[in-house]
Amino acid sequence: MLLRTRGISINIEEPVVGRITRNAGYTGDNSILICENGLPSSRIEKFACVLTNQESTDWQGDHPVVFKVPSFEHLNEGDLVVVSQDGNIKTLYRINSFHNTLLATERCNSNCLMCSQPPRDRNDTHRLYGIYEKMIPMIPKDCFELMISGGEPTLMGELFFQLLQLIKDQLPETEVHVLTNGRSFAWNNLAEKLSDLEYNRLMLGIPVYADYYQMHDYIVQAKDAFNQTILGIHNLARYDQRIEIRVVLHQQSIPRLTRLSRYIYKNMPFVEHITFMGLEYIGYTPYNIDKLWIDPHDYMDELGEAVEFLSGQGMNVSIYNSQLCVLPEALWKYAKKSISDWKQSYLPECERCNKLSDCGGLFTWNLKKHSEHIRPFA
Ligand code: SF4
Repeated sequence: MLLRTRGISINIEEPVVGRITRNAGYTGDNSILICENGLPSSRIEKFACVLTNQESTDWQGDHPVVFKVPSFEHLNEGDLVVVSQDGNIKTLYRINSFHNTLLATERCNSNCLMCSQPPRDRNDTHRLYGIYEKMIPMIPKDCFELMISGGEPTLMGELFFQLLQLIKDQLPETEVHVLTNGRSFAWNNLAEKLSDLEYNRLMLGIPVYADYYQMHDYIVQAKDAFNQTILGIHNLARYDQRIEIRVVLHQQSIPRLTRLSRYIYKNMPFVEHITFMGLEYIGYTPYNIDKLWIDPHDYMDELGEAVEFLSGQGMNVSIYNSQLCVLPEALWKYAKKSISDWKQSYLPECERCNKLSDCGGLFTWNLKKHSEHIRPFA
């Protein structure tokens, strides 16, 4: 699914954040009008920006407009977008989706072998915060859930806490899920600062890939990461913060998976949720595929043992990004349809599978790298 398009911008001096409409009579604030049949002759100044597929050749106005936008198909009435000076139109919030994510920063202090969004060292936090500061008050108050990801969101520093406070104030009913490597919370003052927000709708999703520091540090390509993450988790627990452990399943994590499950139970019995996640074939993964790939069919014994052990201890366990035909039936009760709608796909043979509606399918980018054991149920 398209989340970005681009045209030729005129009169845009700073990013314009607004709500998409196709109704030229709309009177709401911060609206961005889509005109597929030429610009309106009047009222154009009522809109924060106008997007059109037409050529810019004979237009003389001084209002922000993006011309020659190739497609509007992916934009729905009420979606929130940011239009940049260079004509980029990026979707920030999709009104009809439960899967909306704010990218906090592209910077990260880890460099995981299988990172799906490889970090970039650029100072983007103030620019992104400036966009979200305008966008968050426009999000519908009944928004069920927002995800905050990176990079490493805590590298926003003070802005990380300001962002959470803003969401808490503007969207008090919204569940917020922050994906963090947890390392920053090894510094107790940051865990304490987070707890000062008194934000009970906040959950921190933190990856732990092994019960042994050398293996975890190798997977995340960062010295001392394991010790910092485990200390961070304990500091967060000290302040009653809600924690989810995320384990990505691949060639490096599978050999110690059952030991990891015991480590989690023994050392972190307070976590609210543990999820075991299939590998995404994007970002660094294709480059490290020889070190990472194992057919999911071939790790079902280890996965089953880890999941059943934790569940047997009364812990809340899930399996994400797996296909029902690859999982033994005994594990289906743990499988969640976890892949966000905009990146979820099925193989052609799935069309004749009678479990299609129950199965979470594949990441779109995993259509070219998936288990050899995908078989439709007759
Ligand atoms: S065949 Fe496709 S829809 Fe059916 S269980 Fe397998 S992946 Fe899911």
